[in-house]
Amino acid sequence: MKSPRMLSFLLFPKVASGTRLCNSRTFSTSSTLCHRAAGATIPNTSIRVFREISALRQWRRKQLVDYRTVGLVPTMGALHSGHLSLIRMAAAENSAVVVSIYVNPTQFGIHEDLDSYPTTWDADCKMLRDLDRELSEDGGNLGKIAAVFAPTTATMYPSGRPSQELDSKGSFVTITPVGELLEGASRPTFFRGVATVCMKLFNIVSPEQVYFGQKDVQQTVVVKKMVKDFCMDTKVVIGATKREPDGLALSSRNVYLGARRRSVATVLSKTLEAAEAAYTRGCRSRAELLGPANKFIEHLLKEQLQLKPEKRVLFEVDYISLAHPDTMEEIEEIDEQRGAILSGAVKMLPVEMPQDGEDLGLSGGPPVRLIDNIILKAVT
Ligand code: AMP
Repeated sequence: MKSPRMLSFLLFPKVASGTRLCNSRTFSTSSTLCHRAAGATIPNTSIRVFREISALRQWRRKQLVDYRTVGLVPTMGALHSGHLSLIRMAAAENSAVVVSIYVNPTQFGIHEDLDSYPTTWDADCKMLRDLDRELSEDGGNLGKIAAVFAPTTATMYPSGRPSQELDSKGSFVTITPVGELLEGASRPTFFRGVATVCMKLFNIVSPEQVYFGQKDVQQTVVVKKMVKDFCMDTKVVIGATKREPDGLALSSRNVYLGARRRSVATVLSKTLEAAEAAYTRGCRSRAELLGPANKFIEHLLKEQLQLKPEKRVLFEVDYISLAHPDTMEEIEEIDEQRGAILSGAVKMLPVEMPQDGEDLGLSGGPPVRLIDNIILKAVT
């Protein structure tokens, strides 16, 4: 079996480590939108803000008694239209929607961007308030946004926060082998952190349904497997990937890109589209699908390398994968009855020779890891 790591054009530069360790999400004290007190709501809405498990559980019990279903949308905040689309789906299918906002430290590797991960509490509250209005005006919905769960790390990790090291001790949920492949190979603690925090959130909220974006396709496979293997009583629902008009998948991390890198950031979506086009033409083998994809990406990189350093954008391809839809194992041939998952990860390197006044993106434009995928549907 071939390795999914097809290309590695450039050396991976050391990611600058941050100066401040932040192990819990902070709330804006200047915010007039939200209150810290128990029982607080997002102003001008009925959306409750829970920070404590006990208060949320009390609320949850009331929903059960009233025969109201609960849908959970887990997020790390810095909300965008992709998150909102999941909340809309949840409101269409449940009486009450809980949106969790928690930047989970254990899913970040030690050299990753936990310190600088965008936290935009006020803007998130405004987006939820606007969406709440939209949902209440649309009679087609079953429910509404009922609550935001925004815990501290002390609440989520009551025995103390485990370190982000690979050999860290603590109470973890690990889903293997799927959690070790692809994203898991590049980020060895990532899915352990994701599965652990999802297990906690599902235990705290007890949702009938949970909503995840296809954007993070391997995460959906990991969460589905966790729910199945731990006999959990919740249904995992997947929402389509929301994109910018040029095809870039929306992501909270896109704010790091800045203008120069943003103009080339469709490299991954276009690469995957090249492989998808081959599938649509009737190709089924790995070579037939990934050949055009790799050609496209090589051509784009060559083009960039011909530009002057102050103009160009360099990137490193982590992997382009053609995988089994249930296991994420690499495949040589697509079984038409089953379909496949095309996915990839590309690291956009910091811009060279930044120009005076150039928009470098949030935090001075650190390396940005883009991920994306396309589901190749079964041919029926
Ligand atoms: P995050 O806040 O990045 O952890 O994402 C929270 C949820 O939103 C996850 O289930 C993501 O897969 C989903 N999500 C993120 N980006 C998108 C997008 N562009 N379209 C749809 N869902 C998304």
